[in-house]
Amino acid sequence: MDKKYGLIIDITRCNGCYNCFLSCRDEHCGNDYPGYAASQPYSGHFWMKVNEKERGQYPKVKVAYTPIPCMHCERPSCANGSMNNAVYRRPDGIVIIDPVKAVGEKEIVSACPYRVIYWNEEKKLPQKCTLCAHLLDQGWKEPRCVEACPTGALIFGDVNDPNSEISKVIARSKDKLEDLHSEYGLGPNVRYIGLPKRFIAGEVVFKDRKDECAEGVKVTLLGKGKKEVKSVLTDNYGEFEFEGLDADKQFTVLVEHAGYTAKKIKTTTKIDTYLGEIVLNRKA
Ligand code: SF4
Ligand code: SF4
Repeated sequence: MDKKYGLIIDITRCNGCYNCFLSCRDEHCGNDYPGYAASQPYSGHFWMKVNEKERGQYPKVKVAYTPIPCMHCERPSCANGSMNNAVYRRPDGIVIIDPVKAVGEKEIVSACPYRVIYWNEEKKLPQKCTLCAHLLDQGWKEPRCVEACPTGALIFGDVNDPNSEISKVIARSKDKLEDLHSEYGLGPNVRYIGLPKRFIAGEVVFKDRKDECAEGVKVTLLGKGKKEVKSVLTDNYGEFEFEGLDADKQFTVLVEHAGYTAKKIKTTTKIDTYLGEIVLNRKA
């Protein structure tokens, strides 16, 4: 079977080191690759953009890093925005903006709803991630950004080869794979694991034992119709967290422990929610 390239970005492994962004710059700034891409300017372009999103409120704050390159779509809308076949999809799935034919075609930039095409004012050229096709065609196994990632958050390969690492990840993580902005309907070949959603978190304390951490308390998340969504035990700090919840939903958090009166707290996922201290009273 012919090669078909894909990239999986596992957000749960990304620690925001920016090595992907920097290695992309190192490969493309000041370097022309005829037929693939003209050189990337030294500022203003983010062919691999790392979006930083702060989540939650003090004292429960997290940062989610989402690296965003071109999605190398099955149905690339950037190609529809171009003339003279200046943007085309190769048989291996890589979408290329021809660095000669696309000169002057600024409308290509706005044809991508992901906003991953950048305008090179000096060269009058739209430019974006090439999936390092110039390297792959020379026999490289992976693009520069994938090679540079120290945490294994970027997994690249031939999705038509059942023995490739990416195929194995797809097979074991099928239910976790997501598209960024699936509503665009472009069939991205860059897919994600762990895109930031919403969390509900809190800390349980026993009123009569405030100097101890309330470890091992059962906390249940109830959804619509009081249906159980998930259940966890508090950790050794008495804390709990439900992660990966859909936004704008209503939930009830039920806290139960033998010998103590159970507590129910109604909440929503309009934002990431920290419920603070939940105090359990000993039964009379
Ligand atoms: S992400 Fe945008 S630039 Fe990349 S292939 Fe899809 S439509 Fe084209
Ligand atoms: S695949 Fe290559 S061009 Fe695309 S973001 Fe990674 S280093 Fe840059």
